Amino acid sequence: MRQRIQPICALLFILTSLSVAGEAAKPSDAERILAVTKPLEHPRGGRPPLILWTPNFPTQASDDELERILKELNTRGIAFLTRWQHGEIEQHAPNAIRIAKLQKKLGMETVIDGTGIAHGFYDGTPSTGHVSADGKPFFDSSFFWRPGCPFAVQSRFAPMRERTEAYLKAYAEAGVPVDYWLADWEFDGPEEWNDGWASAQRCTRCQEKIPDLAKNFEAYSKAVRSVRAQMQREVFTAPILKQFPAARVGNYAIAPHDGHRYWWDFFEQRKEGLPYAREHKALYRPWADEFTPSGYTCAMPVLYTWYHYAADYEFKNPQYRWFYPLLKEATSAARHTPKQIPSLAFVHWTTTNPPKEGLPQGFEPMLRAMYQEFLWHALLRGHDGFAMWCPANELEAEVPAVHEVYAQSQAYAEFLEQGEPVLWEVPAESSSVISALKWNNKYLVRRTDFEPNPRVIRIDIEGQSVDIPSAEGKCQLIEAP
Ligand SMILES: [Zn+2]
Repeated sequence: MRQRIQPICALLFILTSLSVAGEAAKPSDAERILAVTKPLEHPRGGRPPLILWTPNFPTQASDDELERILKELNTRGIAFLTRWQHGEIEQHAPNAIRIAKLQKKLGMETVIDGTGIAHGFYDGTPSTGHVSADGKPFFDSSFFWRPGCPFAVQSRFAPMRERTEAYLKAYAEAGVPVDYWLADWEFDGPEEWNDGWASAQRCTRCQEKIPDLAKNFEAYSKAVRSVRAQMQREVFTAPILKQFPAARVGNYAIAPHDGHRYWWDFFEQRKEGLPYAREHKALYRPWADEFTPSGYTCAMPVLYTWYHYAADYEFKNPQYRWFYPLLKEATSAARHTPKQIPSLAFVHWTTTNPPKEGLPQGFEPMLRAMYQEFLWHALLRGHDGFAMWCPANELEAEVPAVHEVYAQSQAYAEFLEQGEPVLWEVPAESSSVISALKWNNKYLVRRTDFEPNPRVIRIDIEGQSVDIPSAEGKCQLIEAP
């Protein structure tokens, strides 16, 4: 399960810290990362740093120690995240500024995790609730947060925006930039899934705003996504970009796409009577564009190995049950993201959100090598980098898996920066997957075979026939005809 509920996380962290007091000091998360990664062999150039979402970065370290860790991470291409915290901002901001000044001195980007101040729209204020027939406010309880009415959350914008602006002011006054502001804000908005639409049908305000609400899921979905975009634009992106116009601003799961979502987050339930497209046993949901109206300048699609994938598909090769939906989501996002918008995909290799009782007997997880193949295809379809999330105990498994691909891909840094993706096919059978970037009359190609196939595959790229030999686990440079 994703580890994101800030107060619970903070509490667990304190309890864990207390329980280990007196024992031999455990290595810090930063030391754990440094121990399982090596410095890059090729310079990072203009590519984005690798984002690691989970670790606790040693933000309270002394200046000397902080500088050492910043440099060590930087030689590996890994960003040091500064997490903006809610409450007592005037106490937290000076340390965030201290880190930013050091990063600026060392020529590094500032990378902010804004999650800590991003939640609190639906804080239980009665006026933000739906309104029942007897005039009483009510909230939807089918989520672990309690969304209220999409048409009544606007009163919360100003107090929420003040938090963002307090940090922005501190950065501006100190003369340090916000280069990346990224967040995992998802839990706090109105929702149409689970019982979201059903709740709205009991709300007099929603009924008034949307004629035929009970017959028109699409209209409610559009209204919800539009309000969510307004929340993110007015509270996050607009104030940040006003102060720092070049900032890369992005949020978990908000990316351009083909109109569908191919995965289910851990809090989402498959309910009857909602519109789905079916493939095998998978249910795809129509999804409105929340990216463009939110004003984000960085796309952050979610490419996780969701547990439900294993049962959703019936491909002969069990590995393709993972690969196929991941490639579908990756392709959908990459194909619709403009070239000037970087895409930093949230990724996670080991089975995501497994059942509490553990994985069933005979369950075949995604193999590490297959996950790395997938990351290559994501890069060669236009994603620029990765933001890796994992539970803290998976750091030693997850960090090197993504870092190895990130580090190896630096050999093609210029190609990845300049190249244009030219292949979008997601084969409906477990055969061969081919992805390619074109630059300088060459193709950088990855071919992955899900059935043994030593033969050359002839494909059409932009009207030309191109032969792609088999090359397991390798990229190939092929001259364009
Ligand atoms: Zn309502």
